Amino acid sequence: MNIHEYQAKAVIKAFGAPVPAGHAAFTPDEAVKAAEDLGGPVWVVKSQIHAGGRGKGKFAEAQAGEAGGVRLAKSVDEVRVFAEQMLGNTLVTHQTGPAGKQVNRLYIEDGADIQGEFYLSLLVDRESAQVAFVISTEGGMNIEEVAAETPEKIITFSIDPATGFMPHHGRRIANALKLSGDTAKQAGKLGGNLYKAFLAKDMSLLEINPLIVTENGRIVCLDAKMGFDSNALERHADIMELRDESEEDDKEIEASKHDLSYIALDGTIGCMVNGAGLAMATMDIIKLYGGEPANFLDVGGGASKEKVTAAFKIITSDPNVQGILVNIFGGIMRCDIIAEGVVAAVKEVGLEVPLVVRLEGTNVEKGKDIINSSGLNVIAADDLDDAAQKIVAAVKEAA
Ligand code: GDP
Ligand code: MG
Repeated sequence: MNIHEYQAKAVIKAFGAPVPAGHAAFTPDEAVKAAEDLGGPVWVVKSQIHAGGRGKGKFAEAQAGEAGGVRLAKSVDEVRVFAEQMLGNTLVTHQTGPAGKQVNRLYIEDGADIQGEFYLSLLVDRESAQVAFVISTEGGMNIEEVAAETPEKIITFSIDPATGFMPHHGRRIANALKLSGDTAKQAGKLGGNLYKAFLAKDMSLLEINPLIVTENGRIVCLDAKMGFDSNALERHADIMELRDESEEDDKEIEASKHDLSYIALDGTIGCMVNGAGLAMATMDIIKLYGGEPANFLDVGGGASKEKVTAAFKIITSDPNVQGILVNIFGGIMRCDIIAEGVVAAVKEVGLEVPLVVRLEGTNVEKGKDIINSSGLNVIAADDLDDAAQKIVAAVKEAA
């Protein structure tokens, strides 16, 4: 789960990280009130969406002009104008995809005098099984280019959980950022505080870009992006409260209600599979035969007919889906349950695209009987290769 920038800043502020003063605003009037309260003379009006690249983003609506989702205002009147342009409009950034995201909240912040922009993030490094710091002097809005063109400017090290964050880690951050004196000390201390926050809140990602040095030598977190390990959210009621469902995929929200592991993707072939490994293999083989999966979906080991029905409905509700592949290896999961779920779902929502079903394992004959006697127009497949080739061909034919 992700949260908004202003919420992320409140989280790290509680751990001692320096952030500019600011207020969230849902209307232009609230934005003006926030600006008056902050006092100026310079404010930053920031679109709050769960995607980065806002500064370089563009609004889809013409009245917002060419300006991006982060703007510097030099008067309260300007704050109002920017707020009116942003709220309710759709911001398209390199992270939102072409459809963009509607801006429903703003963050009004004290403007900062920037002397230097750095990059600093913490993430879980699966290879070392430790939390890693990723640091660069080349922060700001072009970090993706830095990573692609001059990767040597990005420094990474991980923290041994047995020792935790040590003073030498702090010095390493300061050195990587080429800082000295008190500014170096501030950067080191910030590293320790962010590490504490990362562990305490079970984050999966904490990205500060830019981390800045102000004209008078102060280190400040000017942007913050935060993601959490969903499996740990149960123990963070305070974080759960920050969830903004309007930022999430409707299909993923519906799937989480049914305890399905579902991730929406950009392709055209909907997949219903049991087991994460088989789901990954199914996606791979679809691609191998020239198709693109529309989703990852693991219905789990002991799925009920209701769960399978819900899963099928989620797949068919995706307008991009031009064909469906059901690929089940029944171990704990029984093939007849899957078949019943598919038939029930199709009866309810109809079936307008080709459907390939590959069943194997427990009660496979019973499952095939249910599908064959249902009168549904199902293409049967013998094995995974056959199934993938058949659905890719069926989608191409229909197109
Ligand atoms: P992102 O584009 O979504 O990552 O949004 P950011 O919060 O990183 O803002 C984009 C850029 O706006 C930053 O890299 C800064 O260059 C600039 N910016 C943000 N806040 C301020 C500020 O207080 N003062 C100034 N001068 N620039 C700012
Ligand atoms: Mg940023």
